[in-house]
Amino acid sequence: MEDCIFCKIANGTIGSNTVYEDEDFRAIMDIAPAAMGHVIILPKAHAANVFEIDEELYGKGMKLAKKLAAAVKQATGCEGINVLQNNGTAAGQTVFHLHIHIVPRYDEDTVNVKWKPMSPAAEELAAMCEKIRNEI
Ligand SMILES: [Zn+2]
Repeated sequence: MEDCIFCKIANGTIGSNTVYEDEDFRAIMDIAPAAMGHVIILPKAHAANVFEIDEELYGKGMKLAKKLAAAVKQATGCEGINVLQNNGTAAGQTVFHLHIHIVPRYDEDTVNVKWKPMSPAAEELAAMCEKIRNEI
């Protein structure tokens, strides 16, 4: 896509701190990291989100996330890692070219991916389970 900044970075038109590259992906240092060592994986082919991306490619991206999470952990000495992939504004997506975040975590960091757990009634939970099952 012509005006997509992540297409330009993934394909090398715009420079980046590249930690990994293969024929399908480029992984770079996020320029506005949540924590030092925050890496994002960009597929070279444009897809806005999980709904649009090719299933095989998504699988490869997640496999790569595992490999890079291990490297980030070794390099930073972090205590934990979040692997995040946001889809849609409501989910915190700000660039609409799918990307996978690898965020190193520390006990006292300022990263916030916590939520307040709900307590749905058993019937509500079962009804939603059925609804999702019917969509698969
Ligand atoms: Zn793109």
